Amino acid sequence: MSEKTTKRLIVGNWKMNPSSFKEAEKLFIEITKLISHIKKTDIIVCPPFLYIEKLKKLSRKIQLGAQDSFWENGGAYTGEVSSEMLYNTGIKYVILGHSERRQMGENNNFINKKIKGALASGLIPILCVGESERDLEHNYFNFVKTQLLECLNGISKNSISKVIIAYEPIWAISSTKDRKDAKPEDCKEMTIFIRKILSDKFGSESSRVKIIYGGSVNDKDAELFLKDGGINGLLPGKASLDPKKFSKIIEICETLNK
Ligand code: PEP
Repeated sequence: MSEKTTKRLIVGNWKMNPSSFKEAEKLFIEITKLISHIKKTDIIVCPPFLYIEKLKKLSRKIQLGAQDSFWENGGAYTGEVSSEMLYNTGIKYVILGHSERRQMGENNNFINKKIKGALASGLIPILCVGESERDLEHNYFNFVKTQLLECLNGISKNSISKVIIAYEPIWAISSTKDRKDAKPEDCKEMTIFIRKILSDKFGSESSRVKIIYGGSVNDKDAELFLKDGGINGLLPGKASLDPKKFSKIIEICETLNK
């Protein structure tokens, strides 16, 4: 399956926003209205855990995802939410290894366990990888390679097509101080590299893995990234909190899917 024939997806990461369910509901309903005509794009919204169950009842078109999950299914793990609990709530996707969680201490070994837990529970993990800077010696390729190999260690060839990879260069994410804009070429060279690593490790099954891009994507540059970034979709953070911008990104994706 090539990047051209795969159905594209747009994943909105709400992060720790908004601050009440009332606001979350309003935002979600506005998005739902604006995307009612969309048919060919998979739309996923990842709100805070607390809002998931109620939002799920408000739209059949928008699929819900979580922003993290724990690897054990139950027990003495204060504060954690398991993949199994999410699956039983009707969730299909979970973002794992986001750079903001890595900054709080999450490492590749933790993320690897979470990916295995998510797959075992029937969830589709969206594994985030990405370097904090682009050095002239190109060490950032090795950095991303290590993230991929350690996070996907022990995942079988049969399961790899169920994993989505999100390339999110930290230097381009909106929450990074003095961030810089990434270009579709930056994204394309990394997606080619990621595909090579996956192919070396998992063989032909890896061609079915979807790779998406996130890093301050908005309604102005979404088309360029989708056309020239070598990707199967986008993961907007900040822009997913603005119904007009988020729905415009989805609209752009839909047009390219035709
Ligand atoms: C993210 O952190 O997942 C992200 C892509 O955020 P933003 O679009 O706000 O940079």
